[in-house]
Amino acid sequence: MTFDLTPEQDQLRDAVRALGRRYGHGYFVEKAKAGEHTTELWAEAGRLGYLGVNIPTEYGGGGGGITELAIVCEELAASGCPLLLLVVSPAIAATVLNRHGTEEQRKRHLPGLADGSQKIVFAITEPEAGSNFHRLGTVARRDGDGWLLNGRKCYISGVDEADHVLVVARTEDSSTGKLKPALFLVPTDAAGLTRSKLDMEIVSPENQFLLYLDDVRLPADALLGESLDAGLPALFAGLNPERITVAAMGAGTGRYAIERASEYTATRKVWGGRSIGSHQGVSHPLAHAAVQVELARLMIQKAATLYDAGRDLEAGVSGNMAKYAAGEAAALAVDTAVQVLGGAGMTTEYGVATLLGAVRAGRIAPVSREMILNFVAQHVLGQDKSY
Ligand SMILES: Cc1cc2nc3c(=O)[nH]c(=O)nc-3n(C[C@H](O)[C@H](O)[C@H](O)COP(=O)(O)OP(=O)(O)OC[C@H]3O[C@@H](n4cnc5c(N)ncnc54)[C@H](O)[C@@H]3O)c2cc1C
Repeated sequence: MTFDLTPEQDQLRDAVRALGRRYGHGYFVEKAKAGEHTTELWAEAGRLGYLGVNIPTEYGGGGGGITELAIVCEELAASGCPLLLLVVSPAIAATVLNRHGTEEQRKRHLPGLADGSQKIVFAITEPEAGSNFHRLGTVARRDGDGWLLNGRKCYISGVDEADHVLVVARTEDSSTGKLKPALFLVPTDAAGLTRSKLDMEIVSPENQFLLYLDDVRLPADALLGESLDAGLPALFAGLNPERITVAAMGAGTGRYAIERASEYTATRKVWGGRSIGSHQGVSHPLAHAAVQVELARLMIQKAATLYDAGRDLEAGVSGNMAKYAAGEAAALAVDTAVQVLGGAGMTTEYGVATLLGAVRAGRIAPVSREMILNFVAQHVLGQDKSY
C-alpha cells in the first residue's frame, strides 16, 4: 500500500495548483457576479492538457485515469476555482463516450473535450422523477432512420456553454415493449430544444437550466453507442467518475476554506498579543474540519485507484462514500471558516462565504447524501431496498 502519488501525478498537482492560483477565487467570483464564464481558465487548462488527462492519447488526451482528473478537480477547487463542468464534461461525458460511444463518436468528440474546445453537459434529472430515475419521462421514438425526443429536464449545468447535451431518455424495447434508458448526443442548438435559466443561490460562473425537448429530431447516430443495449451500461459508466471528481472538488474547496481561515486566525489579534487561533474554541473546529477533509481525500484516492484498476463495483462503494464524506467535509470546512473569520467571514473580500451555496449544493447534487446512505445501507449493510 502506498499513499504517494507518482512523480508525474505530483507534477500534475503542482502545475494545476500554479494555474489555479494564477486565477484564484477573486477571478472566479468576479466572473460569477458579472454573469460571465471562466472562459480563459478553461481554455488555458485545455491547452495545458489538464481537461483531457483521463482521455486516451489517440484522441488527444493525456492517457491517464480518474486519479489524474480528480487531481485537476481538487487543485483548481483548492485554489478557489471549483469548476463544476469538470465533473460534467471530462468526467461524465468523456468517460461515457470513451467506454460506450461508437468509434465515430469518439473521434468526433473526444479531441475537443480533451483540449477544451468542446463541452458536453449531462441531463438526467427531471422535475417529476427527481432522485427516482426509474420514473424518467423523456421519451425517444423512432422517426424514420432517426429519433424524436420529447421531455423535460431540470437543474442542467452549463447548457449555455456547451455544444452538446448528453440526454438520458427512454426508448421502447422492441422485444419487451418496456421503456429502457438510452443516451443521446443532442446539439444545444437543435430545433425544439429550448432552455430557461434557473435562479440559483450559488455564487458560480456556471449556470443551471430547465430544458424543454419538444419534438427534437435527431439523426440515427445521435444515439450513443452501437445499439440501444449501450444505454444502461453507458449510464452506469458515468456514475463513478462523477462521484469521485465531485468529491475531489469538495475536498479541494474544503482545503481552500481551511487555508483562508488558518491564515486569518494565526494573525488576527483582538485579546492583547495572542492570535485568535491560540484559543482552542477557534482552532479546534478548524482542526476538526481539516481531519474530515483529509479523511475524505483518503477515500477519494481509494475510489480513484479502484476505478482506474477496472474494479468498478468496489469503486462504486468507495466513490459513493468519498462523495458523501467530501460533501459533508466541504460544508463543515466552509461553515467553520466563515465562523472563525467573524464578520470578515461574511464579506466577499475574504472569499469564504461565497462558497456557502456551492458546498450546500454539494450535499444534494449530483447525488444526495440520503441516496448515498440508501446505497450504503443496501449494498454494504445488506438492508432491504427502502424505495
Ligand atoms: C447546483 C446543481 C447542479 C446540478 N447539475 C445537474 C446536471 O448538470 N445534470 C443533471 O441531470 N442534474 C443536475 N442537478 C440535479 C441533481 O442531480 C438533483 O437535484 C439531485 O439528484 C436530487 O434530485 P431532486 O432535486 O429532484 O430531489 P428529490 O428527488 O425531489 O429529493 C428531495 C429530497 O428528498 C430526499 N429523498 C428523495 N428520495 C429519497 C429516498 N428514497 N430516501 C431518502 N431520501 C430521499 C433527497 O435526498 C432530497 O434531500 C444539479 C443540481 C444542483 C443543485
